[in-house]
Amino acid sequence: MRRKLVIGNWKMNGSLAGNSVLLRGIVAGHAAGKADLAVCVPAPYLAQCQAELSGTAVAWGAQDVSAYAAGAYTGEVAASMLQEFGCRHVLVGHSERRAYHHESNELVAQKALAALNAGLVPVVCVGETLEEREAGRTNVVVCAQLQAVLDVLENPALEKIVLAYEPVWAIGTGKTATPALAQEVHAALRKQVAERSAGAAAGMRILYGGSMKPENAKDLLGQSDIDGGLIGGAALKAQDFLAIAAAA
Ligand code: 13P
Repeated sequence: MRRKLVIGNWKMNGSLAGNSVLLRGIVAGHAAGKADLAVCVPAPYLAQCQAELSGTAVAWGAQDVSAYAAGAYTGEVAASMLQEFGCRHVLVGHSERRAYHHESNELVAQKALAALNAGLVPVVCVGETLEEREAGRTNVVVCAQLQAVLDVLENPALEKIVLAYEPVWAIGTGKTATPALAQEVHAALRKQVAERSAGAAAGMRILYGGSMKPENAKDLLGQSDIDGGLIGGAALKAQDFLAIAAAA
């Protein structure tokens, strides 16, 4: 039985004062024992998360990581640095990074590897654009994104990653994939992992992301291959984020 995982992706939002209210609200309202809960915040706020969340049931992480361990990479943040600030997770390959920062499948795979090497859990994001879906290429696109990661990971490491299916057309648009449609893609992803390792596939948590809200969370999270959520907008309000976690 896979334990549900709900991650808030704050994207480029927050302020020290606002974060403090949000984090305290999440900690106060989180019913420990239900789903695992985490927030992925902008890097400058990791120290604040470490101060506010240490010793609580809420984990924290970053939204991106360098593929390199150290060196002359101005502006980049190394996985070892995230680890020093207590991160458990790091998102890799979010569609906004793929689109606006031209991250290739191969670079995303290297980032996943760098995260694992530092003891972090990479949350590997995959998803198709509307154009790709309409052309009937959804599975081809998401499977290629996943395959690049499978190609660089050995089996024990593979068991440690989390996957997130986020259809690009559902992110921040209010359009959610129907539970059946999301389930279909999640099942295809799990099947692809199973071709490498049945054990890794059975244990791997595959999150859904894209306009998940308190109103649609239960139906999505009720699907057999949907093991949690990656929440954008609704993660910025403690009440909504907690309601989604409670539905998990
Ligand atoms: P929304 O929940 O705002 O659609 O964002 C989803 C997302 O991109 C999470 O990573």
